[in-house]
Amino acid sequence: MTDAPAGTGADGDERLILLLVGAMGAGKGTQAMALSRKLNLPHLASGNLFRAATAANTPLGQEARAYIERGELVPDETTIGMFMSELSSPAAARGAILDGFPRSVGQARALDETLARQGDSIRRVIYIDVPTEELVKRVAGRWTCPQCGTPYHESTDPPRVPGICDRDGTALRQRDDDRPEVVRARLDRQVPPMLDVVDHYERAGIVERLDGMQPIDDVTAEILDRIGASPQGAAG
Ligand code: AMP
Repeated sequence: MTDAPAGTGADGDERLILLLVGAMGAGKGTQAMALSRKLNLPHLASGNLFRAATAANTPLGQEARAYIERGELVPDETTIGMFMSELSSPAAARGAILDGFPRSVGQARALDETLARQGDSIRRVIYIDVPTEELVKRVAGRWTCPQCGTPYHESTDPPRVPGICDRDGTALRQRDDDRPEVVRARLDRQVPPMLDVVDHYERAGIVERLDGMQPIDDVTAEILDRIGASPQGAAG
């Protein structure tokens, strides 16, 4: 009991499986990376895992490729199989941060059942709540230099001359799917199933709802506080 690694929470010998939930632009990826560093737990992001498997042309990658290229969800069985295999690796012995999965109540139930068979469960669900109009502003404010790839943001990281790359003077471009009307449509599709997942875990009383309008570091500090965890390993 006492030789359990510090930093995994008040009852530190329990495995810490966290689920991060938030719409695009809510800062979920940023928080996942910060928590992964501070808690020294692997960050398991479904999109990244699928892209890596596809790039390495593994059997999983071959199976997932067609779905990803069509922008469809990879079948639940394959997705759950991938996460269970990641969760059973030595790197995840103390826990993990799940990002992008489960994305629907169906996936949540299937994951809960599979974890329960191993005597395990998701410990906490961190929901980063940001109003829709703020999400649209954040995502639709992104501009990139088509020449050198430098990213900018209209309000948080603007170029010196509006619309022009600081590095090479090229006119900046906005990704088609980052235009405000497209962002709203993407959010309309993305948010309802996400809130269903939050409701599902709300019933188990394990959801921590955070105000994602706070500065990045404050959100990280509040998450650590809410889960009763202290940073361990590489700080930063
Ligand atoms: P993302 O980077 O999160 O947008 O994910 C990229 C692609 O990976 C998605 O378009 C899906 O094809 C696949 N994917 C990611 N997460 C899931 C999931 N939870 N269930 C099924 N497919 C997923």
